[in-house]
Amino acid sequence: MTSTGQPTATRTTRRRTVLISGAGIAGPALAYWLNRRGHEVTVVEKAGTLRSGGYPVDVRGTALEVVRRMGILPRLRDAHIDLRRLTFLGADGGEVASVEPHTVTGGVAGRDLEVRRGDLTDALHAAVRDDVEFLFDDSIDTLDQSGHGADVTFRGGGSRTYDMVFGADGTHSSTRETLFGPEERFHRYLGYRFAVFTMRNTFGLSHETVLWNTPGRAAALYAVGDTDEVHAFLTFARPEPPSGASRDPRAQRDLLTAAFADAGWEVPGMLAAMRGADDLFLDGVGQIRMPRWSSGRTALVGDAAYAPSFLTGQGTSLALVGAYMLAGSLAGRDHTAGFAAYEDSTREFVTLNQQLVAEGGATLFPTTAEALEQRNSRLRGLVTMPSGQGRPAHSALALPDFTPRQ
Ligand SMILES: Cc1cc2nc3c(=O)[nH]c(=O)nc-3n(C[C@H](O)[C@H](O)[C@H](O)COP(=O)(O)OP(=O)(O)OC[C@H]3O[C@@H](n4cnc5c(N)ncnc54)[C@H](O)[C@@H]3O)c2cc1C
Repeated sequence: MTSTGQPTATRTTRRRTVLISGAGIAGPALAYWLNRRGHEVTVVEKAGTLRSGGYPVDVRGTALEVVRRMGILPRLRDAHIDLRRLTFLGADGGEVASVEPHTVTGGVAGRDLEVRRGDLTDALHAAVRDDVEFLFDDSIDTLDQSGHGADVTFRGGGSRTYDMVFGADGTHSSTRETLFGPEERFHRYLGYRFAVFTMRNTFGLSHETVLWNTPGRAAALYAVGDTDEVHAFLTFARPEPPSGASRDPRAQRDLLTAAFADAGWEVPGMLAAMRGADDLFLDGVGQIRMPRWSSGRTALVGDAAYAPSFLTGQGTSLALVGAYMLAGSLAGRDHTAGFAAYEDSTREFVTLNQQLVAEGGATLFPTTAEALEQRNSRLRGLVTMPSGQGRPAHSALALPDFTPRQ
């Protein structure tokens, strides 16, 4: 592990015990930083194992400094996908524009990273697994903060009391639901559904994305390397937010089939692959916006607190930065003061990145023919543009060192 030169807590006082729910991105990152600051950390994850592979995610701007301080930047550089082209197609499959990907995503070539989500999760887990207890295939059943600690019972049996509990359990966080109420209160639906799954790469694609559009619909094939698999992506406009029934796998397949019934290009083959895929993931496109991220001895981090939606490409970076800021804010403070410092220091960064949706994300998927033509004109103007300097929001927070107060 790379030393950051940052002090860990002295061992003369009892180590604070913490429970983190979720071993995605935010959970292991928070575990790393809390462990380094002298906390005794347990992570509970409802899945049986870490999920390897998966769709590509971005680590940009301020988040690069977080992974550098964790010592995992070289490993992530090795895992970098290096996407070379992003090609937009019209309804008939003809090329509209082929651009350098960063001109659209706002990333910086040679600096920002794109890695398979599982490669990042593996790197985070490897950085903490020797120092942190992981409980897989389990989750929090009840959480009671009425006493002098947070009393937790686990679905798998057993109970423990912690000094603090953290919800890093993603957009549909049950920790958030337990403490703050139903997701509808905090979920801001952005008007689209999206689905991802893997299928065979029979297209000869390599290190590139091809994106087909008609008004209100998009289908993409994303080839992360020279493998025989591609990530398939379908998105379509739908004014009403998803309901509980939308989680039924057969209903999800029927919904996608109906939405793309008359589509051209490679979409019929994608739909056929979708029906047989064992990793189909479908959800609404939305953000989580909360007036507060903590309650009593419990705080939320990552998508559970402030999912920005994939339209921003910033979910992973917010999770990494949020974890660092939360752990650092607790240094030398009790949970009440620490959680307040976390919100004070991090909220503006989160807001700026959530606002990126208005700046570009949704305009990639216009819902009218006129808006689509305007988008295509803009894209043609980008064809000869080199990668830019990145979006200011990505680097809008300078990471403090968090030397504990004396
Ligand atoms: C299809 C797709 C494409 C995306 N593309 C991008 C992109 O291009 N760039 C980008 O930066 N981001 C992208 N994202 C977003 C990114 O994946 C998330 O923002 C990021 O993973 C957030 O990390 P997290 O740890 O907060 O949540 P998650 O990664 O969702 O992790 C939550 C973890 O909690 C676990 N969990 C859930 N409930 C419980 C429970 N009750 N008890 C215990 N464990 C539980 C889950 O199993 C999971 O392991 C994309 C997301 C999706 C779905």
